[in-house]
Amino acid sequence: MSYKIPRGCQDIYGEKSYQWQSLERTIREFCYLYNYDEIRTPIFEHTNVFKRENDSSDMVNKEMYTFQLANSKTSLTIRPEGTAGVVRSFVENKMYANPDLPVKLFYMGPMARHERPQKGRLRIFNQFGVEALGNKSPFVDVETITLAFSILSTLGLQDIKVCINTLGDDASRQAYHDALKEYFKPYLPELCSDCKRRYEQNPLRILDCKVDHDQPFMKDVPVMKDYLTDEAREYFETVLNLLDRLEIPYEVDDKLVRGLDYYTHTVFEIVSMNKEMGSQATVLAGGRYDNLIPYFGGPKGMSGIGWALGMERLLIALEAEGADLGGKPDLDCYVMCLGEDVRMYAFEAMTELRAGGYRCEMDMMNRSFKAQFKAVDRAHAKMVLILGEDEMKAGQVTIKNIKTQEQKTMDRDKLLEYVDSVLWEE
Ligand code: ATP
Ligand code: MG
Repeated sequence: MSYKIPRGCQDIYGEKSYQWQSLERTIREFCYLYNYDEIRTPIFEHTNVFKRENDSSDMVNKEMYTFQLANSKTSLTIRPEGTAGVVRSFVENKMYANPDLPVKLFYMGPMARHERPQKGRLRIFNQFGVEALGNKSPFVDVETITLAFSILSTLGLQDIKVCINTLGDDASRQAYHDALKEYFKPYLPELCSDCKRRYEQNPLRILDCKVDHDQPFMKDVPVMKDYLTDEAREYFETVLNLLDRLEIPYEVDDKLVRGLDYYTHTVFEIVSMNKEMGSQATVLAGGRYDNLIPYFGGPKGMSGIGWALGMERLLIALEAEGADLGGKPDLDCYVMCLGEDVRMYAFEAMTELRAGGYRCEMDMMNRSFKAQFKAVDRAHAKMVLILGEDEMKAGQVTIKNIKTQEQKTMDRDKLLEYVDSVLWEE
């Protein structure tokens, strides 16, 4: 029996919890600016929401936490990603009937994948993602990429590049699919066992393989761009032109196919170039999906686009670049309570300061004057309220401004006014 956290999981607490809050705040501000609404879907769904017919991705085939309760026939899966649940909800709640398309949604929360844990690769990790659903336009593609780029730059991530590619429409992909099958046929015995399966299910996936990546025959593999229909090529060119106009730096990567099967047209990743990231350098990834909304029973031909960002990976990348992630904020006022008899008097004073908007803490351990002063230091308090029996009997308070070291005794009812006058100037 173990009371330890399961492998590949993390508790977030202490200073780190403040970094998470700050990250989440920036994310929320940008979503507000770009007019994305929040959506919260359940952390498990019916298994078939994720495990769709013919899906060849590792995530679906090897990494899902799927369970069935003893007295139930229903198979459920803890979400390994956000898109499928959001699209399920979009269709189920008929959001596609909204007169203003695309419907723009963002989500944040934990995902579960059974992977080999490493730095930046967890079994429970958090994603922030966006989806723009119901309208297909290169401008929508570029809007989502701009949002991603703005958030990362604002957070201070500089050493990054946007890698982009197109997987074209169904006709382009079919032509490419056939070309890849033809090309890989003679190399089939040399492919890893996963790629042998991928060859049958979806040869595009072979390009994403981390095992066969360095095989010599990978160099001359056919590229998608030679198989695009005119329409798909034009769509991609427009996306790239818009990125140029907005001065978003990108690199076209012919071999970028992304790990999920549902992508069509634009696919992209934002990669950290920092050496410390190793093979966990992709902080954000996404793409367009022409077939997912109809798959869930939504209107035929209705398309969407989205991306997801790994929040743990982003924090690692920010740290590697030395970005200031902030931490626990200083306390405005520490209330020293000298003796149990004074506790209620001190508690009332603290409650008044909190009502006035000040971050306060009070000794609850009945410690000595010296021990309480150490707590003041640890909390980096800006002011200290010192309350003993003398103050209480006289209806007064003693307060010290730590920065100027100025100490004053005043009537109790002047306290808030005084704290306002000192802290408001900051
Ligand atoms: P990778 O190739 O690194 O396994 P992926 O293609 O499986 O990534 P996506 O499914 O596109 O990743 O998820 C988007 C982002 O979520 C990734 O770019 C990454 O930042 C993050 N992510 C994915 N899996 C994990 C994980 N196991 N632990 C931490 N973050 C993850
Ligand atoms: Mg993966």
